[in-house]
Amino acid sequence: MEIYTGRTISDGIAIGKVKIYRKRKRMIVHTDVVDAEAEVRRFEAAKEVAIEQLRALYEKAAKEIGGSNATIFRAHWMMLEDEDYNASIYEMIRNGGMNVECAVAKTGDKFFRMFAEMEDEYLKARAEDVKDVSECFVEVLAGANDGDVLVEDSVILVAGDFVPSEMVQIDKTKLRGVVTLQGSKNSHTAILARTMNIPALMGIEPEEAWDGQMAVVDGGKGILVINPDEFVLEEYKKEKNREKETRKFLAELKGKPTVTSGGREIKLYANIGSIDDVAHVLANDAAGIGLFRTEFLYLEKGDYLSEEEQFLVYKTVVQDMAGKPVIIRTLDVRGDKQAAFFRMGTEVLRTQLRAIYRASAFGTISLMFPMIRFVPEVQGLKEICEEIKAELDEDNIPYGEVKLGIMVETKDAVEFSAQLAREVAFISIGTNDLTQDVLGIDRENPKYDGVCDKPHSTIMQMIQKVIDNGHKEGCPVGICGELAADIRLTEIFVNMGVDELSVSPSCILPIRKIIREM
Ligand code: PEP
Ligand code: MG
Repeated sequence: MEIYTGRTISDGIAIGKVKIYRKRKRMIVHTDVVDAEAEVRRFEAAKEVAIEQLRALYEKAAKEIGGSNATIFRAHWMMLEDEDYNASIYEMIRNGGMNVECAVAKTGDKFFRMFAEMEDEYLKARAEDVKDVSECFVEVLAGANDGDVLVEDSVILVAGDFVPSEMVQIDKTKLRGVVTLQGSKNSHTAILARTMNIPALMGIEPEEAWDGQMAVVDGGKGILVINPDEFVLEEYKKEKNREKETRKFLAELKGKPTVTSGGREIKLYANIGSIDDVAHVLANDAAGIGLFRTEFLYLEKGDYLSEEEQFLVYKTVVQDMAGKPVIIRTLDVRGDKQAAFFRMGTEVLRTQLRAIYRASAFGTISLMFPMIRFVPEVQGLKEICEEIKAELDEDNIPYGEVKLGIMVETKDAVEFSAQLAREVAFISIGTNDLTQDVLGIDRENPKYDGVCDKPHSTIMQMIQKVIDNGHKEGCPVGICGELAADIRLTEIFVNMGVDELSVSPSCILPIRKIIREM
């Protein structure tokens, strides 16, 4: 028995046989090109096929893991259309006399290095995606179609690196766990593993001798056990069964109210970023949507959405939620969710508000404004909402009753929470930005991953202050930042008087369990 430690990427226990994943190493041969334009035509034909393949991959991924997670593959095919990427290939073919295979591989390497050297951890992780795209391209040029790599059942896939397109292509019914040397918590392979609930570790160097041996991936503890002895294997089997039992037990909580044994009901809502997430909200039986991060709609499209496009999204979401409340947050773009096309003006807000008000005729919608600091900001926004309603009245367009709320996620908003509470129908505390603002911790920097894990006393006191100030003004207070899903704090938050918790869909049932046992 051998034990190796790695970095936890996705929790859970996997038991199976190791399959060492060997990448097909295509020899890229440089040939001198006589007719550069003929080579350009080869490139363009292959590009069309590659785009088609990535589109098909996107559709497969969308079915398996939901549209918002599958957007990686849309980003991949967009990369094939990227001007700089293409310009580099054209330049190498036309002026460097290179064949397509060589130009694609060299351009892939160039972009890979460019991303890998970036300081920003998120962008650094994108190097893997760039490599993925170029490898797909070279495969197309070689006319390859290798099919599925998993033959046996219950496989623990071990690889030097494992790119997202490989992850989507393999048969997930056979895949139990993933272990790689390369990749980071932010890489898309990691995101896919978590979305699909596949235990995963990174930072472990594969050894050929493991191929075909029994192994255990303990995602939670960050351990890979090769050839576990009988006792260890038995213990892990028991733990896996306990995991299964817990999931089964949690499933029984569907349809049950989120009430303490003392009879206090907590609104347990879910956070979403796209229409596809609604399926997870319903599957986990959330009582509503507490935070619809609408900026992801724009980021997914890579451009602004028209009023009509937004209206259709919001209408679909509220109709799918069938009367359950939906809190839509207006566009919230800052450093961490930036895109080149964003130039904020009130027109963007007005377009979004019209779409939201129109959709409110089809269900229960509340509006929430992010990053509020002072009372006049809220008053200004309320005036704009009145103007939008007047416009809709004039055009005879129906709309429902829309409650207005704010996020409290800045120091100033905490300070003025009593005055702000008088202006709105509800408050939701954004602990992600509040932690960043108060403690000066960059929420995007993985080096600080552990620091925010502990409930910080200043943040807890601020949450208490907002709850108390809200309640004095008759304004309910919820939490929708990541802290809301911290099961160590559920009981504390309920005792602090919180009215609503909004968490990612998979956290709904574990939190319901805790509250019902209080
Ligand atoms: C927050 O800041 O806690 C929050 C919920 O908003 P976001 O994470 O979208 O900034
Ligand atoms: Mg925020």
